[in-house]
Amino acid sequence: MRTPDEIHNDAAARALTLRWPAGETQRVAHARLRAACPCAACRRIRLAGAALTAAPNITLAAIEPMGYGVQLAFSDGHARGIYPWSYLEALGHDEADGDARHTA
Ligand SMILES: [Zn+2]
Repeated sequence: MRTPDEIHNDAAARALTLRWPAGETQRVAHARLRAACPCAACRRIRLAGAALTAAPNITLAAIEPMGYGVQLAFSDGHARGIYPWSYLEALGHDEADGDARHTA
């Protein structure tokens, strides 16, 4: 499993930035991280077929290192999700999603 060299919470852009050993930078929007929360409760919601939606203005409040990944706490008070590095990597890159909201 790959481990990022650097992880950074870009509060202004509402994105989590990960720098991988090969040098590439991955950005994942806070709202998408929240919607992809891997905790048991959120998993159950998704398994039931419901989309887990996050408020577009949600922000990442805290990053807790867990060795094999990070535990992320969000501004809605939800802090149960532990995101392994491989899971974060699989979320892909958000910058090219055509989201122009942060460019103003
Ligand atoms: Zn969750």
